[in-house]
Amino acid sequence: MNDAKRWHDLADAIKPETRLFIGGEFVEAVDGQRFATLNPATGKPIAEVARGNEKDVDLAVAVARRAYKSGVWSRMAPRDRMAVMYRIAQGIEAHADDFALLDCLDMGKSISELINGDVPFSALTFQYFGEAIDKVEGVVTSTDPAALHMITRQPLGVVACVTPWNYPLMMAAWKVAPALAAGNSVILKPAEQSPLSALLLAKIIADAGVPDGVFNVVNGFGEDAGRALALSMGVDKIGFTGSTEVGKLMLIYAGQSNMKKVTTECGGKSPQIVLPDADLDTAVTYCVNNIYTNQGEVCSASSRLLVHESIHDEFVAKFIEDAKRFQPGDPLDPATTMGPLVTREQQQRVLSYIEKGKAEGGELVFGGGVPAGLENGCYVQPTLFGKITPDMTIAREEIFGPVGAVMKFKDHEEAIAIANDSIYGLASAVWTKDLATAHRAARDIEAGIVWVNCYEHGDMTQPWGGFKQSGQGRDKCFETILAHMQTKSVWIHLG
Ligand code: NAD
Repeated sequence: MNDAKRWHDLADAIKPETRLFIGGEFVEAVDGQRFATLNPATGKPIAEVARGNEKDVDLAVAVARRAYKSGVWSRMAPRDRMAVMYRIAQGIEAHADDFALLDCLDMGKSISELINGDVPFSALTFQYFGEAIDKVEGVVTSTDPAALHMITRQPLGVVACVTPWNYPLMMAAWKVAPALAAGNSVILKPAEQSPLSALLLAKIIADAGVPDGVFNVVNGFGEDAGRALALSMGVDKIGFTGSTEVGKLMLIYAGQSNMKKVTTECGGKSPQIVLPDADLDTAVTYCVNNIYTNQGEVCSASSRLLVHESIHDEFVAKFIEDAKRFQPGDPLDPATTMGPLVTREQQQRVLSYIEKGKAEGGELVFGGGVPAGLENGCYVQPTLFGKITPDMTIAREEIFGPVGAVMKFKDHEEAIAIANDSIYGLASAVWTKDLATAHRAARDIEAGIVWVNCYEHGDMTQPWGGFKQSGQGRDKCFETILAHMQTKSVWIHLG
C-alpha cells in the first residue's frame, strides 16, 4: 500500500471530536450552533463543529476561575505538574498520525511537514515548558538588615489563548504549554478555519492528568467567541497569535475591560539580504524554502528578497530552477511539497496581490496562477516577482501566500534601509562571509530574529517574536513562562 493510500484510508476513517471542551467534558454549545469546516484541498466539508459564543465563553471562564482558585493545578507541586506536562508531550507523540491528519484536512498543510515538523515540535514544547517549571526562582534582595525582602512569582489566573490557522496544533502548543506550566487555567480559542486538532489536544491534556476545568477549548468565530474572551472581566491574560489588525483589537479590548495582560505575535514582511560574497547556492535554497514552505502561510516567511545588484540576475535564474522542487499537490501524499491555501478567500486574496504586483510594474518571473488540474482546491502556484521597488504594495503588505518579491540594492546601507522600511519586524537574514558585515547587519536590522547564513534555524531556547507591529512578547524560550506569571514583593519587617 503506498503511503498516500494509507493516509487517505486513515482520513476516510477518522471521526473527529467536534464539541466544545469545558470543565473536563465535551459539550454542545449553549445555543446549539455549529459551523462547517472545509477541506481546502477538495472544497468538501470535513465536519460540523460546535460554535461557541459569549455564553460558552462565560461558562468556560467561570469553570477555569473555579479550578484556578481551588489550587488543584496552580498549587500542585512543581514536579507533579512537570510529570503531567511530560505525559501531554508523550500523548501528542502517541497520536502523531491523528494530529497530522486533522491539521492536514483542516488547513491543507502537507502531511510530511506535519509529521516531521508541527507534531514533534508541539510535543517538544510541552516537554520544554514542563522542564522549565522548577527552574523558576524568586529572589531575596540586598536590603536593609531590618527587613527581609523576597520577590516571588505567582501564576496570573485565567489565560485565554487565541490562535491562528497556519500551524493549528503548534501555535496552540506555543501558547498553551507555558500558560499551563506556570500554573494558570487556560481557555483555548482556535481559528475557525482549523478547529479540530485543539479538541484532540483537549483529550490528551485531560488523559495526562490536568484536572477538570484547568484546560478548556471554545471553538467559534473571532468576532464572537474571540472577542468575548478578550473583553471578559474574568480573563487575566490574552496570549494572541494572528494578524496585526486583530492584535491591535486585542489591546483595545483589554483597555475596554479589565486591563488584562496582552501578548501578541503578529504579522511579518521579513527580508533576506543576499550580499555579493554570499554562498549563492545555499542562499537561494533557503530563500526558496522560506517563501514556499507551508504555502507561504508563515508569519516569518521571507517575502522580501533583497539581492545585491551585481548578483541579481544570477540569483533569479537559480531561484527559478530551485523553486521547481515545490509542486502543489495532494497534501495527504507524503511526496507533496506544497498543499492548497487555507480557504477560497485566502486563495483569492493572494491572487489579488499577484494582480496588484503586475499592475504596479512588477515583473512576474515564476508562477502567478492556479495550477492546472487543481481548480477544486484553493491552490496558488509558487510565485516570484522581479523588479519590485520598496514602495509597491507587494513589497509592503503581508500576503501570507507563496509570493516572493526580489528587490535590488547597491550597498549595505541601502539594504538595511530597505529591510527596515516596514511596519513589521519579525524575522530577517543576512547572507555574507564577512564577519563584520554580518555583525553590523545583525545590530542594525529592526527585527526580533536575525539569522546569519541560514533561515528558520533554532530551538526551544530561541525567543520568537517581533519588533514594531509584529507584536509584543515572545513565544518559546524561558522568558515566556515568566510572562505567564506575576511578580510579588514580600517585605517583612524584622524590627
Ligand atoms: P487572524 O488575526 O484573522 O485570526 C487569529 C485569531 O484571532 C483566530 O482565532 C480568530 O478567530 C481570532 N479573531 C479574529 N477576529 C477577532 C476579533 N475581532 N476578536 C477576537 N478574536 C478575533 O489571523 P489568521 O488569519 O488566523 O492568521 C494569520 C496571521 O497570523 C498572519 O498575519 C500571521 O503573520 C500571523 N501569525 C503570526 C505568528 C507569529 O509568531 N508572529 C505565528 C503564526 C501566525
